[in-house]
Amino acid sequence: KHNVLIIGAGGVGHVVAHKCAQNNELLGDIHIASRTLGKCHAIIESVHDKGSLQQPGQLQAHALDAMDVEATSALIRATRSDIVINVGAPFVNMSVLEACIQTGAAYLDTAIHEDPAKVCETPPWYANYEWKRRQACREAGVTAVLGVGFDPGVVNAYARYAVDHCFDRVDSIDIVDINAGSHGRYFATNFDPETNFREFTSTVWSWENNAWQANAMFERRKEWDMPVTGKTTCYLTGHDELHSMSQNLGVPDIRFWMSFGEHYINVFSVLKNLGLLSEQPVRTARGQTVVPLEVVKAVLPDPASLAPDYTGQTFIGDVVRGRKGGKPEEVLIYNVCDHAACFDEVGSQAISYTAGVPAVAAALLIADGTWDRGTMANVEDLDPRPFIALMNRMGLATRIRDAKGDRLLDPVTQVA
Ligand code: NDP
Repeated sequence: KHNVLIIGAGGVGHVVAHKCAQNNELLGDIHIASRTLGKCHAIIESVHDKGSLQQPGQLQAHALDAMDVEATSALIRATRSDIVINVGAPFVNMSVLEACIQTGAAYLDTAIHEDPAKVCETPPWYANYEWKRRQACREAGVTAVLGVGFDPGVVNAYARYAVDHCFDRVDSIDIVDINAGSHGRYFATNFDPETNFREFTSTVWSWENNAWQANAMFERRKEWDMPVTGKTTCYLTGHDELHSMSQNLGVPDIRFWMSFGEHYINVFSVLKNLGLLSEQPVRTARGQTVVPLEVVKAVLPDPASLAPDYTGQTFIGDVVRGRKGGKPEEVLIYNVCDHAACFDEVGSQAISYTAGVPAVAAALLIADGTWDRGTMANVEDLDPRPFIALMNRMGLATRIRDAKGDRLLDPVTQVA
């Protein structure tokens, strides 16, 4: 058995804990660490309430500042954890990775490292942080799988699958992320507001004609007609996976599109234009120093609180175009996830669910040796087939739509 240490007790950490519990015959003891101990206890209570534990097993909560490498290493050792699933804020990636290199534990995360002081990174962003530790991982024999949520994560695996199994040559990959759900609030973000807004306030980088292309947010839009969600307006957005896929797949055009309603764009634009999304501290007339973004975060709904009322579905998929047998071909590989079904199963909304399930699938593939390569990898560096097949059984089914129709993709038994 492989004990697991989960870092971060937010929306994604909640799903990760439930899914580890559902698979504790292979994963063993489950430890949850976050700055706020109470949040870890609340997750453990929810795991027990839902009866998620597959077998009788240990679930323990720990208070931890994951920026502290020594404290994180000590906790990995004390809990005898072989696998660390980092779903804390993206600011802690490098310190948690360092602790894994020190202790030999496998490392997983779901977002690229961020320096809180930097608004925009030069691409490829992974080269600024994580990839600098690739050699250290190799020397220590540490398996690190970067960005293994849904996007980044599963969409990287879909791209690898398409490149290897569906085409002779791939010309473009458009990743489309549509949340067609409704939380019924005036305005809310689906995950940590700080991380969420930072994603949309900086330059939009995409990979076009084998080069980085810079755009402003909401500058380029396109209507995508997708299964279940139908015609939806999406906007070109900068996203983590472009920074690795552009370097690893040899595909000339890779873009990321996300759906936004007009209401979201209006509210976001007002907040941004007023300076309320700024991380720069301001002084109030009473002499207090406040960070506008932190104030906005404090007044917005906690993303986890949206789950009970969330209805509708999410769609995330890769539209891949290229040539096969001398002819042009288009393939869509995708998942549709239902907010209410996620809430019934684990008490979360679909955005946390789609990010958390892949991280646990990856942990299982490390535990059984399939992905335990003793080095650092992005998801597209790894065989996508066992990953997709495992997620089909864990609540995230993959479908494929091509000239032959629309069907479940079972990459172990079925050749596209
Ligand atoms: P939340 O804000 O809900 O949770 C983050 C958690 O991290 C909180 O419990 C917070 O602790 C904890 N944390 C932050 N800093 C530290 C620290 N220094 N030490 C210990 N714990 C810390 O975020 P989400 O759960 O929604 O997202 C988690 C991660 O998943 C983010 O990196 C996000 O970008 C990523 N994500 C990835 C997706 C994908 O598909 N790839 C999709 C959605 C999210 P506390 O509250 O106790 O202060």
